[in-house]
Amino acid sequence: MRALLEGLLTVLKHIFMRPVTLEYPEKKRFQSDVFRGKPAVMGCVGCGVCKKVCPSNAIEYVKNDDGKVISYTFDLKKCIFCGNCMYYCPHKAINLTQDFELATEYKNELMLTYKGGADD
Ligand code: SF4
Ligand code: SF4
Repeated sequence: MRALLEGLLTVLKHIFMRPVTLEYPEKKRFQSDVFRGKPAVMGCVGCGVCKKVCPSNAIEYVKNDDGKVISYTFDLKKCIFCGNCMYYCPHKAINLTQDFELATEYKNELMLTYKGGADD
């Protein structure tokens, strides 16, 4: 009986408290401004700095005969979201976005390719 009353008291106490959980995925928690999520690239000139500073060798890009970047790929299976590529890119072409929903059943969806990285 005592345990039952204690349980009831605990429930009543928590009814009026602010919930600590959210109705995810309908509601999402605000991410910090410095959160490092899914990487994106725009305006890459193919200088190669990001490849050199990436500790997990997660970056590949392809240039055409004119030396323009025609595709740029992040391998999210390898990426550790350290942000080095973003911090060291001299052209500010990389941004680690707020997007953290990267789970998938398919490995190929973890190869994140951006086309035309040079001029977009
Ligand atoms: S993303 Fe930046 S650092 Fe990497 S190759 Fe392009 S311009 Fe150079
Ligand atoms: S965030 Fe880090 S691990 Fe991921 S691609 Fe950039 S440098 Fe490489």
